[in-house]
Amino acid sequence: MSVYTAPAFDEHENVLFGFDRETGLRAIIAIHNTSLGPAVGGCRMWPYADEAAALEDALRLSRGMTYKSALAGLPFGGGKSVIIGDARKDKTPALMRAMGRIVDSLAGRYVAAEDIGMTVADMDEMAKVTKHVTGTSASSGNPSPYTGYGVFQGIRAAVAHKLGHNDGLADVQVAIQGLGSVGFDLARRLHEAGARLQVADINGEAITRAVDEFGAVPVDTHDVHGADVDVFAPCALGAVINDQSVGELGAKIIAGSANNQLADDRHGAELAARGILNAPDYVINAGGIIEIAHGTDFGGTHDDTAIFEHLDRIHDTLLEIFERADTEGAATNFVADQMAEERFS
Ligand code: NAD
Repeated sequence: MSVYTAPAFDEHENVLFGFDRETGLRAIIAIHNTSLGPAVGGCRMWPYADEAAALEDALRLSRGMTYKSALAGLPFGGGKSVIIGDARKDKTPALMRAMGRIVDSLAGRYVAAEDIGMTVADMDEMAKVTKHVTGTSASSGNPSPYTGYGVFQGIRAAVAHKLGHNDGLADVQVAIQGLGSVGFDLARRLHEAGARLQVADINGEAITRAVDEFGAVPVDTHDVHGADVDVFAPCALGAVINDQSVGELGAKIIAGSANNQLADDRHGAELAARGILNAPDYVINAGGIIEIAHGTDFGGTHDDTAIFEHLDRIHDTLLEIFERADTEGAATNFVADQMAEERFS
């Protein structure tokens, strides 16, 4: 396994491989770019098939955070950490403290936040041994509702741009893949706005709740990307838009919270060629990091009015990207990258 020649390596400033003998913790922290500030990004726990897969995730996700924070107008760089393991079986308070000590060794160049496999209680445990943790119960807490609101605003922008619906989302059809913390929150907001929902999740309980509470229609997890809807909202894992799925998509718009939705950047161009509007993932899902930036860990007051005003800008940034993509005849993901690079380079 090589770092410098790994396909996802993009001139990252640091990559740290951590190990703790007592707990068996194996974790990688990737810091992509700190031009705009400390590298802030989630800590993910996942049963990666091997170390190379974990490294690739850390490299890709940390790069994404640089772009995300730059386009969200935040004074942050991009970083991400991954813990190799099954959060349901392997996670212990001691493991979290061991992770906290590794984060602490970077002396603030990286600040850890919550991601898949982690909870606010886990961040609290890490915070016992390092101050370079955010999203604890004492600070901003769970960012998912803010991410959900940002995605909702992004869907509004995409629907206005692509379908010309400027009045809202009444009767707009949305297929949501993944009804977790963000997906379920998004489903509620969409339902309240009058959208009609199709939902897929490997967790049957979440589906039952969405059917009962929102009148959602369940779809098979293998077919949801092909649902004949206005918007496909990937809110589970990455690489949903790939060589196989790109030709099977049924929606006119791709707009959801999942990180790294495109298996490869070229799939963004394929979406554009097929007339499908793609809301770049790191722009539409920036709500969580925006909320974190307004929290006490970064000298803020966690004022909801200010946070929601900031979240509303996701709508405007996306409209700017869509318009620039139209003018330049470029894919939206390339335009977003360009705009972010203009800010952090
Ligand atoms: P989560 O773990 O709470 O939810 C994920 C959901 O996806 C779960 O309900 C899970 O059962 C479901 N799922 C897993 N595999 C699936 C499959 N093959 N088909 C359908 N459903 C499947 O995670 P979350 O916090 O809601 O985050 C969702 C996505 O959004 C992730 O990609 C995450 O990185 C991204 N994201 C989250 C935030 C946030 O604030 N939580 C911020 C930015 C980006």
